[in-house]
Amino acid sequence: MALMITDECINCDVCEPECPNDAIYMGELIYEIAPSKCTECVGHFDEPQCVQICPVACIPVNPEHVESRETLFEKFTRLEAAKAQGV
Ligand code: SF4
Ligand code: SF4
Repeated sequence: MALMITDECINCDVCEPECPNDAIYMGELIYEIAPSKCTECVGHFDEPQCVQICPVACIPVNPEHVESRETLFEKFTRLEAAKAQGV
């Protein structure tokens, strides 16, 4: 599953640089996660890095983006291939 940031986010800025997929960005009011880029850190780390560091625990799974570990790993592979091509 991709993760999402709820409106409890306090814009503390600490999660954005931790994401290995550059999936976290500043939205209109709070930080947001691009589901197409979030692999729950599969392929990079054992645990979601943003969840580990968020001081207010406002990063649950996104119920609209339920994905298996296999699907997440395929996404990781696609993202890495795109990175290698400089896309
Ligand atoms: S779980 Fe990992 S890939 Fe997804 S947004 Fe958080 S740090 Fe980025
Ligand atoms: S770490 Fe949590 S509170 Fe801080 S910007 Fe990220 S989602 Fe918001």
